[in-house]
Amino acid sequence: MSSIIQLLPDHVANQIAAGEVVQRPASVVKELLENAIDAKATDIKLIVKDAGKTLIQVIDNGIGMSVTDARLCFERHATSKIRHAEDLFDLHTKGFRGEALASIAAIAHVELKTKQDQEELGHHIIIEGSKFVSQEVAVLPKGTSFLVKNLFFNIPARRNFLKSETVEMKHIMDEFQRVALAHPSIYFTLIHNGSENYNLPSSNYRQRIVNILGGRTNEKLVPVSEDTEIVTISGFVGKPEYAKKSRSEQFFFVNDRFIKSGYLHHAIMSAYDGLLKEGNQPSYFLYLKVPPHTIDINIHPTKTEIKFDDEQALYAILRSSVKHSLGQFNVAPVLDFER
Ligand code: ADP
Ligand code: MG
Repeated sequence: MSSIIQLLPDHVANQIAAGEVVQRPASVVKELLENAIDAKATDIKLIVKDAGKTLIQVIDNGIGMSVTDARLCFERHATSKIRHAEDLFDLHTKGFRGEALASIAAIAHVELKTKQDQEELGHHIIIEGSKFVSQEVAVLPKGTSFLVKNLFFNIPARRNFLKSETVEMKHIMDEFQRVALAHPSIYFTLIHNGSENYNLPSSNYRQRIVNILGGRTNEKLVPVSEDTEIVTISGFVGKPEYAKKSRSEQFFFVNDRFIKSGYLHHAIMSAYDGLLKEGNQPSYFLYLKVPPHTIDINIHPTKTEIKFDDEQALYAILRSSVKHSLGQFNVAPVLDFER
């Protein structure tokens, strides 16, 4: 009888996990931005070259890491954010899987610079394809910088699969916008190939939405507000006359996390019933707060889907509060002969 099963070495396991977590440069952007937020940063800079194909850097002014943590953060299942299985049902951070950095380091060249506020000196670590290359003490500002170069250098199939710069940059901007919309009090900057695409000083929700989407956004926003035991809703919906063909201005955030939900989208669409021209899509920026134990985020590695305990109640509350807001602001049905 011969046995043939073996445990995979860590670097192979990391590379496999990376396939799920890191689909494209934008996935790296999302993970690094979320880590910066979890580190309580108030100022976050994203620097990108060639739509992230050659370089992605996130610099934050957060809590930084000790030298031990700076090494450990690249291990799989290494996280400071949860300890027990129960914690999965009471999450207060973006991260909890302890997988992102291990995955990214498995398929790119990563340079970490980090310093804690109370420390004199910081640490500079280089890791390439899961292999530690160097570790030095360095004079650094407070906070953390992750620099990710040559993504997918060791997975040519993935690298070749990347789309044009325009498409990859669009994905990066989408992730950046989602995170920036969810955290208006944080100062965000995005620099692509040396030019500043976004400069978003700390502000409130309305101003952040306007700063990102620009132009006449302000005049089209109708506030939504609702407070129940199941959910607290705040944010804005767009006046029906500003509806457009694309769904590019539709955002749900649950506990400060951007999520996708066909079901909740349907609730909004039904609140607009009779107000939209055929095929038009309303804008919405809705911020839902629910007790963390009433949702399950651990459904998919990218965490953009959530399971709610009471989805139907949420649907009803959302629909009625949006309807109420549209009514309050005297949004009358669009009659065909008026056009
Ligand atoms: P997770 O976010 O799920 O915990 P990651 O692999 O993204 O897993 O990060 C691992 C750990 O590294 C985090 O739990 C955190 O302690 C630390 N870390 C990552 N990014 C930063 C950062 N920007 N500032 C401070 N600590 C960080
Ligand atoms: Mg993380």
